[in-house]
Amino acid sequence: MKPRVVVSKCIEFENCRWDGLGVSSEIVRKLKEHIEFLPFCPEVEIGLGVPRNPIRIVVAEGGHRLVQPAAERDLTDDMSSFVERFLESLPEIDGFILKSRSPSCGLEETKLYASADKPDVVGKVAGFFGRAVRERFPELPIENEEHLDDLSIRKHFLEKIISRALRRETGEEGSRKDIDDYIYKMESWK
Ligand code: SF4
Repeated sequence: MKPRVVVSKCIEFENCRWDGLGVSSEIVRKLKEHIEFLPFCPEVEIGLGVPRNPIRIVVAEGGHRLVQPAAERDLTDDMSSFVERFLESLPEIDGFILKSRSPSCGLEETKLYASADKPDVVGKVAGFFGRAVRERFPELPIENEEHLDDLSIRKHFLEKIISRALRRETGEEGSRKDIDDYIYKMESWK
């Protein structure tokens, strides 16, 4: 039994960030042995290359837009429809680990800009993919990679994905001992 978790692909799976780099996370690296990860990069999937010009979320009439200022592109519709199709196509999953602060994958701390061509930040919001994940799967454990460095947040996240995976695989709730045994195994690098 392995929990099945969608993860932002740039975290320990591929150097697919806008600058051609990846994101290091010791926790994700060590959990690879114990979790069936489904790595996914929404920006690459909608056809933006690696490396690419950065994208940002901006305030606009009628709502926020996802734009690529250097190319003067509005990616909102492409991203929204692709994310919708991707989430629809997923098998039953147990959780998500998403890259913090990304305009696509961020969960709540992504910068919201006043416009495409000015540096003014007017707030913090979720990225387009992160927001869609939260809306579609309100019952699932969803964390960013930075929060998982915190032991109590990580333990809570692991408990939830293990418990969901046990129910998915066996049709039964795992006992407290089953869940603790899995967490002990997962955390055995300590
Ligand atoms: S944060 Fe998301 S969109 Fe950005 S590189 Fe990572 S996986 Fe791709």
